[in-house]
Amino acid sequence: MPVIEIRDLHKAYGQLEVLKGVSLKAMRGGVVSLIGSSGSGKSTLLRCCNLLEDSQQGEVIFKGEEVKWRGEGLGRHPADRAQVIRIRTNLSMVFQQFNLWSHMTILQNVMEAPLTVLKRDRAEVEASARKYLEKVGIGDKCDAYPAQLSGGQQQRAAIARGLCMEPTALLFDEPTSALDPELQQEVVKVIKALAEEHRTMIIVTHDMRLAADVSDHVVFLHQGRIEEEGPPAELFGNPKTERLQQFLSATV
Ligand code: ADP
Ligand code: MG
Repeated sequence: MPVIEIRDLHKAYGQLEVLKGVSLKAMRGGVVSLIGSSGSGKSTLLRCCNLLEDSQQGEVIFKGEEVKWRGEGLGRHPADRAQVIRIRTNLSMVFQQFNLWSHMTILQNVMEAPLTVLKRDRAEVEASARKYLEKVGIGDKCDAYPAQLSGGQQQRAAIARGLCMEPTALLFDEPTSALDPELQQEVVKVIKALAEEHRTMIIVTHDMRLAADVSDHVVFLHQGRIEEEGPPAELFGNPKTERLQQFLSATV
């Protein structure tokens, strides 16, 4: 059973149609990468998965549970607040700009959501936060503030924060795009380690090597539609559509 399934999703911002009937499945333990030009709808699609965006038509299904909607067209919203929270807390999102709280230490950043949203026991959350910070290689930065860390370390802290929610899946939106090339690799290494543990992940990325290395399935979005998709070896080795061929020759 897919952890996340999107069926024929349509999303517009006012008059601007951004997703024009997109379907997507993220299987348990699988890694899906979303690639495509800037503006093709990748972030929007990712944000629709955890209901950070409304959509006008189509289904979002989390572990077999269909999102219930109320209203129609641009007025359509999720109808069940508890369902939205359940889905969102099970899908940890990692953003391009890390989004750490600057006034909190790294440890406090990682502990915040498990404590306040999940209301878990403080001692247990602290042990788990330290474990994940260790895992991403910054166990010695617990008491530092985000501004005292490099971009690569901040992004690894953001990944530890996502992991500490014990989510069903992780959603990454260009996790390496804000980093200098030499810092990208330390984040890539962490993502590869997570893929080897068979964490379910959807990764929006400009890094074709990352997509090729970690994905089971790659989806190429073009102007709000899936232009081509398949296993990475096929997509990168033998792109069929002219648009994907052009995209790959422009990016590699
Ligand atoms: P990508 O992540 O592939 O670069 P996005 O999903 O961010 O693409 O954006 C797709 C399109 O939707 C773009 O044309 C963008 O300008 C537009 N868009 C994104 N977010 C908003 C928003 N909040 N309001 C209006 N338009 C938006
Ligand atoms: Mg984007």
